[in-house]
Amino acid sequence: MTIAKVIVDVPASSINQTFDYIIPERFQDILQPGMRVIVPFGPRKIMGYVVARVSESSFNRLKEIIDILDLTPILTPELLDLGKWLAEKTLSLYITAFQAMLPQVLKANYKKELERLTDAPLSEKLEIFFAGRDFASYEELENGGVSFYHVQKAIQAGDIAVHYLVKSRVTKKYTTFLKPARDGHLLEEALQDMSNKAKKQQEILAFFIEHPEEIELNSVIKQFETTRSVINALLNKGFLTLLKKEVYRNPYDDDQFEQTNPLELTEQQQAAIEPVKQHIKDNVHDVFLLHGVTGSGKTEIYLQAIQDVIDKGEEAIVLVPEISLTPQMVRRFKGRFGSNVAVMHSALSHGERYDEWRRIHRKEVQVVVGARSAVFAPFENLGIIIIDEEHENSYKQEDSPRYHARDVAIQRGEYHRCPVILGSATPALESYARAQKGVYKLSTLTKRTNEKAMPEVNIVDMRDELHAGNRSMFSRSLKDNIAKRISRGEQVVLLLNRRGYSTFVMCRECGHVQECPHCDIALTFHKHSNQLKCHYCAYEEPMPMDCPSCSSDLIRFFGTGTQRIEEALTQLIPEARVLRMDVDTTRRKGAHEKLLNQFAEKQADILLGTQMIAKGLDFENVTLVGVLTADSMLNLPDFRSSEKTFQLLTQVSGRAGRHDLPGEVIVQTYTPEHYSIELAGHYNFLQFYQQEMQVRKQFQYPPYVYLALITVSHQNHVKAVQSTQKIVKSLWKHVQQDTVILGPTPSPISRIKDRYRYQCMVKYKQEPGLRTLLSKIIRQFDDDVRKDDLQISVDMQPYQLM
Ligand code: ADP
Ligand code: ZN
Ligand code: ZN
Repeated sequence: MTIAKVIVDVPASSINQTFDYIIPERFQDILQPGMRVIVPFGPRKIMGYVVARVSESSFNRLKEIIDILDLTPILTPELLDLGKWLAEKTLSLYITAFQAMLPQVLKANYKKELERLTDAPLSEKLEIFFAGRDFASYEELENGGVSFYHVQKAIQAGDIAVHYLVKSRVTKKYTTFLKPARDGHLLEEALQDMSNKAKKQQEILAFFIEHPEEIELNSVIKQFETTRSVINALLNKGFLTLLKKEVYRNPYDDDQFEQTNPLELTEQQQAAIEPVKQHIKDNVHDVFLLHGVTGSGKTEIYLQAIQDVIDKGEEAIVLVPEISLTPQMVRRFKGRFGSNVAVMHSALSHGERYDEWRRIHRKEVQVVVGARSAVFAPFENLGIIIIDEEHENSYKQEDSPRYHARDVAIQRGEYHRCPVILGSATPALESYARAQKGVYKLSTLTKRTNEKAMPEVNIVDMRDELHAGNRSMFSRSLKDNIAKRISRGEQVVLLLNRRGYSTFVMCRECGHVQECPHCDIALTFHKHSNQLKCHYCAYEEPMPMDCPSCSSDLIRFFGTGTQRIEEALTQLIPEARVLRMDVDTTRRKGAHEKLLNQFAEKQADILLGTQMIAKGLDFENVTLVGVLTADSMLNLPDFRSSEKTFQLLTQVSGRAGRHDLPGEVIVQTYTPEHYSIELAGHYNFLQFYQQEMQVRKQFQYPPYVYLALITVSHQNHVKAVQSTQKIVKSLWKHVQQDTVILGPTPSPISRIKDRYRYQCMVKYKQEPGLRTLLSKIIRQFDDDVRKDDLQISVDMQPYQLM
């Protein structure tokens, strides 16, 4: 087995395969699949992942591996296979899939350098760029306005060369420890000989005679209230010695978590956990959909199932949405399992995340709680995978590899023959449909553990407000209620549901929203052309002068920012202290948490924010939740907008009155009769599911069909359109009869950074060859991608359709 098959770090579809390298003698005994290596590739040295060792190669004149970056594999055999599966399933590159499974610090960083090889004149731009130098950094080039195409030409002509200087960014943290340098009896002799003036030295030495274990230098200095010079004296006399040891950065102080014990389960919880426990015991895979209202004790079920897994000596992965990974959430897991829990969270520093990853890699913990990418935790004996709030879109990665954590979890669950639990108060339609068909096993928790009813939801018709002469964004009832709560010292959460850039057109008089006649989604207003356009099918029409439904001229586009609301709010209720939470106020690291803490400490009466306030919050003192405009989510140009509205309304409602004080929810809307608003008001998931499934069936959307979204972008408008057209044509030629291809249409964000974006969508029931077909079609554009900066991306499970 002297040959290694390597996936090299060159993100190009023409390189998306393994390359064979000779394993030099010195690495023969240590090299294993799953390690990273440095290999020669053309004129450069690059990083690659060893995926297999074989004894023969069908190529001759192989090159040798230059260096090994890892001494133990960082990808297990399972993860190597998973990466391959992931790449194929999402039509991404193998290298991209592997990188996605690892913490950032393990992605080798290259410093690239350009060298001028000739004195002969270069092209004008390159001359300016080199400006008399022989070497120049690559980053400069990227910012310097020289096209890669020119550089590539010059490289091909032998005028310049690119050097790759690999430096691994792995950063470990070391701490200095102190320990005795001699046997105890020798130290005792030394102690007796020591001058009585050296009191501190004596104390410290006496301590080490009693406790010969190593301890951190800093803590010794602190404990004895001494200085480094005293320690140095002991070091110089040869009594003590220093050693450096690698330590983990633990972002959580594990002692701060109070130990919690398993609760006695309710009857419903008992019924739900029973089959899961049985599966854990028998090593059987199945997917359980745990549908339970907020506060029904889903988390307690997770905790007790994990306990079984731990007792069995196996491991558990718990995924929670990034935004819900609050200290409250971490406390629930650390409180039960202490330091046996690693936390993977994007708010941690790269170093902290790497340390948490290594605790998993070294089998020092059995549980990981983390956001999406924690699904790749390098455990080797998984006993359960849990996805909380499984309907959340943040489980879908929107960059390549465009995977859904649910699919990865199920794939790993099959491999490890262990159960997967999907938990939610409002499961995704796709998941619930699978449960209905028996593909997933359904358990339902209908009762809250505290037996309290869900807070009452009052829906306010904003059209009535207008008719009564109230033109503000706050209905009379919301205003009165806010004032009442504040005067009682209670707190209010206000949700402004504004997402994205899209503006739809709505009649303030009657609530009419202009929709696409073919796609059942709101048309989007384009200011410069004064047109309304559909982003699915390219239908368009002029902006109406008055409402087609009631002829009112109060029809206009819709959307207000949090800042304006804040101003309006402080005018309306001057005594209210308002905290605003949106993308602007939470951009800085830790800002999100800081705002929440301020609110928890009652430094404000009202928390005003976008969807990010809807999740995971649990404030005892919040008794009123107000939703300012339920319509702005309902009318997003996305076929999932009703579902998202239902989920969001249900979720925010769960924020009110979770404790002793009874809560109330006020939802303002221009379309109170819409089923997703009405049914969310009654917490009626089942009926919502049934009604929404009918719509999906009628307009042929998932889960009745599958979708694939292809997005093309280029600086040149015509080029972007034409390339998309070409793709659409090739697709039509090869797909099944009942498959539909929509487009080309401009993407909802039709231009980003001066690149025009076009898209087309494939709607299909069964298309076994689609991935192969798409790869083939895209490969035809390889030249344009390489030389002309054309970009094509495919999403086999699109969620962001806006
Ligand atoms: P969910 O995750 O479904 O929203 P939680 O697991 O957070 O629900 O449970 C809500 C509350 O009920 C928590 O405070 C939890 O400690 C408590 N709880 C859960 N199960 C039980 C039980 N069997 N008996 C008493 N209290 C429980
Ligand atoms: Zn109208
Ligand atoms: Zn349409």
